[in-house]
Amino acid sequence: MTYPAPRMLIGGVWCAGETGRTQAVVNPATEEVIGQVPLAAPGDLDRAVEAAVAGFAAWRATPVAARTAILRAAADLVTARADRIARVMTLEQGKPLAEARGEALRVADALRWDADDARRAYGRIIPSAGDTLLSVRHEPIGPVAAFTPWNFPAGSPMRKIAAALSAGCSIVIKASEETPGTAVELARCFQDAGVPDGALNLVFGEPAEVSAHLIASPATRLVAFTGSIPVGRLLAAAAGAAMKPSLMELGGHAPVIVCADADPVKAARRAAFAKFVNAGQVCTSPSRFLVHESLVAEFTAEFVRAAEAVVVGDGLEEGVTMGPLANERRLKAMEEFVSDAVSRGAAVLTGGHRLDRAGYFFAPTVLAGVPADARILLEEPFGPIAPIIPFDDLDEALAIANSLPYGLAAYGFTRSAATAERLVTGFEAGILSINHCGGSVHEAPSGGVKSSGYGKEGGPEGLEGYLITKRVSHLLE
Ligand code: NAD
Repeated sequence: MTYPAPRMLIGGVWCAGETGRTQAVVNPATEEVIGQVPLAAPGDLDRAVEAAVAGFAAWRATPVAARTAILRAAADLVTARADRIARVMTLEQGKPLAEARGEALRVADALRWDADDARRAYGRIIPSAGDTLLSVRHEPIGPVAAFTPWNFPAGSPMRKIAAALSAGCSIVIKASEETPGTAVELARCFQDAGVPDGALNLVFGEPAEVSAHLIASPATRLVAFTGSIPVGRLLAAAAGAAMKPSLMELGGHAPVIVCADADPVKAARRAAFAKFVNAGQVCTSPSRFLVHESLVAEFTAEFVRAAEAVVVGDGLEEGVTMGPLANERRLKAMEEFVSDAVSRGAAVLTGGHRLDRAGYFFAPTVLAGVPADARILLEEPFGPIAPIIPFDDLDEALAIANSLPYGLAAYGFTRSAATAERLVTGFEAGILSINHCGGSVHEAPSGGVKSSGYGKEGGPEGLEGYLITKRVSHLLE
């Protein structure tokens, strides 16, 4: 299959943009240019917002059961086209085909969940004086401006599109210019399922230009972003200046605490598996491994074994379990993290370098003896590097875990229910897993605390951000 030419979807029409400006799309496994993504001009963005206003009017007027049926049909199309979507995703982002296919199937399921949940967006009647009827009702907030990154080319856009459309909103989404093809494939499923023109608009462009334009536009009512903390701060500030609510799904630097009573081999295997999924480019990826000193030798040996068993290669090849990094920036960032740590005295136990071949491949890496001021322990790594740090006191480990501004995910391993509870209450994070490093499940809310952002995706909480609440007091005469 060749890579399909990406287009923007504005008001139900697939288009190339007014100016014809484009940006190259690169296959990270080969460094070859596989396509050109169109970049929106201000006029394109204005048309997208106008379309979203018209699309909102049509979509919110569609009865909720009909909306759910259309969205479920779109989910079925995503499922039916999962192989194609997965190939596009692997070509543009690099992840192994099986991982890409799993992502496509998961987003279809997430869409079904949100679509069904919209039917339960209940209001309530409140007991009040006999002559008034006091009620609370929920309504869609309006056209949404959304911005998503490249690490989950299906997952990130779908979480925003599914929540917005399920709630009855329209949306203008700027998916990543580095992984546009997957977003195009998803948008086609919605269009083919019968979502009205303008309810879903997909644009690409120069990110700062597009976000400034869409956030300032009076017609957009909500800003939803997934990406880095610095960009999140910019967009949240712009949304605040325009007095619009925002949902911010930002980065993390997830600690893993392996307590003295844990099984070090099981903990190492589970943590290493999670570390190298998507080449570590996951906001909830475990990234600081705090291991009780009595277990550190066994844990480290097993972790290194697991790292060396990872099969790195082109995600289209059979048997590959980790693809390249998604872009050259991440490769450079990994090289800098390792050289900084080594210059401060850390030891590279395995990996630590790019692979000697075309493509942005970096070897699964384990570091020991990393000092507390090394950059890898302070900044989100977003790549396949695992620093292992021994501790002797659980309070001290929790203090290290909570010492950064991040608060997205945290993981603990222990056989004691009491210690597990100490971890759950002690971790400053929005997503916790005990004795595993499981991925997100759409029926439960995901989201961070502290600088990792605010707002939730998934669970009944996921729709809340896309709804407004009206209090209605009706004097009965
Ligand atoms: P970046 O911080 O420049 O970009 C992150 C994302 O934000 C990209 O998708 C980009 O297109 C978008 N973006 C950038 N400026 C924007 C703007 N002004 N308006 C709207 N969107 C904008 O850098 P990057 O190299 O793409 O990623 C670097 C870091 O971002 C990673 O190390 C990681 O920490 C973080 N990140 C987090 C997630 C996540 O899921 N939370 C996803 C991707 C990247």
